[in-house]
Amino acid sequence: MVRSPGAARIGGLDETIFDEMSALAVRHDAVNLGQGFPDVDGPDEVVEAAVDALRSGRHNQYAPGGGIPSLRMAIAGHQRRFHGQEVDPDTEVLVTTGATEAVAAALLAMVDPGDEVVALDPYYDSYTAGIALAGGIRVPVTLPPPDFAFDVDRLVAAITPRTRLLLLNSPHNPTGIVLSRDDLAAIAEVVVEHDLLVVTDEVYEHLVYDDHEHVPIATLPGMAERTLTISSAGKTFALTGWKVGWAVGPPPLVKATRAVKQFLTYSSGAPLQPAIAGALDLPDSYFAGLSATMERRRDLLVDGLVGLGMEVTVPAGGYFVSGDIRPLGFDDGLAFCRMLPEQVGVAAIPHQVFWDDPATGRHLVRWSFAKRSSVLEAGLDRLAALAG
Ligand code: PMP
Ligand code: GLN
Repeated sequence: MVRSPGAARIGGLDETIFDEMSALAVRHDAVNLGQGFPDVDGPDEVVEAAVDALRSGRHNQYAPGGGIPSLRMAIAGHQRRFHGQEVDPDTEVLVTTGATEAVAAALLAMVDPGDEVVALDPYYDSYTAGIALAGGIRVPVTLPPPDFAFDVDRLVAAITPRTRLLLLNSPHNPTGIVLSRDDLAAIAEVVVEHDLLVVTDEVYEHLVYDDHEHVPIATLPGMAERTLTISSAGKTFALTGWKVGWAVGPPPLVKATRAVKQFLTYSSGAPLQPAIAGALDLPDSYFAGLSATMERRRDLLVDGLVGLGMEVTVPAGGYFVSGDIRPLGFDDGLAFCRMLPEQVGVAAIPHQVFWDDPATGRHLVRWSFAKRSSVLEAGLDRLAALAG
């Protein structure tokens, strides 16, 4: 018998739920409301800038490991413009292959085997994988359905002498909650008291709705020196396939993350980097227009799902709305999502794959509204078959 080739560390890792559901969507020609990617390209001028860079003959070899200087400067300018955060583009900014690489490199850089990593539960899938790769132990701070409210007492209860790091995500995938300034202040107090590091994934920083506000925890007192903030061009510029991301933080955290990142990819997307530098300098109206458009699409999808009889939690930010499928006569989201593309012609993502205890999210399904209104309407039309 051949020995299993997989290391024990990766024993639980398999094809991502996004690949599984997108493949089903393609096979059955379904409307894909599953994997979170927009169905239109980002701004023309950003795409043109990449084409120019490809043709210029100056951007087709390795970019520096930390990212090209103009992009690092643009990231620093973006943090100043939108968040009032001052970072040194040379020592406090790192360009990565999407937020995914930044998260993985940060966890590998900061977590030793046996260290506990506290994270909001449900977790985005790459966090569980990244913690496992680092040999860490994940400890949930559950956001209980149906409203997914954050409760700082749960955070306090999760901390032990072995806690090394708090991994945050706001706006949050999959729940759509946005941590308020008060939540963040309470978190900061706990983090400082226990002398923890914070890695915060803020890829949906520009996708915040109604009167909610995105506050980077790094801007709270005492947090800048212990926080690595991660974001990405994917969501902000509707260019998820470019995989240009970044991390900003104090020099020791950026240096450690960079040390690991060098040996994951070294660098990537050389001709895309100058284009994203330009994108980050787009006027405020671009960013405001993006959230306004997405808010309308959120409303369209929320109203449509409610109209079908689903109980939904209205998201304050991000790309996704979570719905309880029990009123439709189903109770297992995974089975439901495996059936849906073929039977109904729509793809979605089951919540249970994101939860520490899958039973907590069994009745929930995640739907993406990062699609044109006509596509959302087509998906809702097909879903009407479930209600009827
Ligand atoms: N973090 C969160 C919370 C996400 O939802 C995603 C993907 N949409 C990522 C990270 C991955 O970002 P990227 O595509 O830039 O690697
Ligand atoms: N972040 C995207 C989502 O949550 C998926 C990205 C991916 O497939 N890795 O849908």
